[in-house]
Amino acid sequence: MPKRLNFDRLRAALDTLKLEQAKQLQADLIVLIEQLEQQGNTPQPAPKVREVVEVRQLGDRLYQLERVRCGKAGCKCQGEKGQLHGPYWYAYWRTEGKLKSRYVGKQFRAIE
Ligand SMILES: [Zn+2]
Repeated sequence: MPKRLNFDRLRAALDTLKLEQAKQLQADLIVLIEQLEQQGNTPQPAPKVREVVEVRQLGDRLYQLERVRCGKAGCKCQGEKGQLHGPYWYAYWRTEGKLKSRYVGKQFRAIE
């Protein structure tokens, strides 16, 4: 099944990511998962991947300080009582109706 092969390749490619790239990808996935859930494509509620600690609105950007679950098997963050990563700041905004996100970092700062 070609789809499965691509997915495996995608996952294998994750090993080559730098830390900042991995964190951006994580932000992208948070948005993607939320969109899929809103579309009702997820038959069961997905495990909680983040916990919002603080929210700040700045212009048209929403900034959230979040603790996150990475989804990596065997990580300390797994399970109901797992120790989540972070907290890290993420920025969210809409461009032409599409929800965008960006990893900001441990320290709050306004992004471009
Ligand atoms: Zn983890």
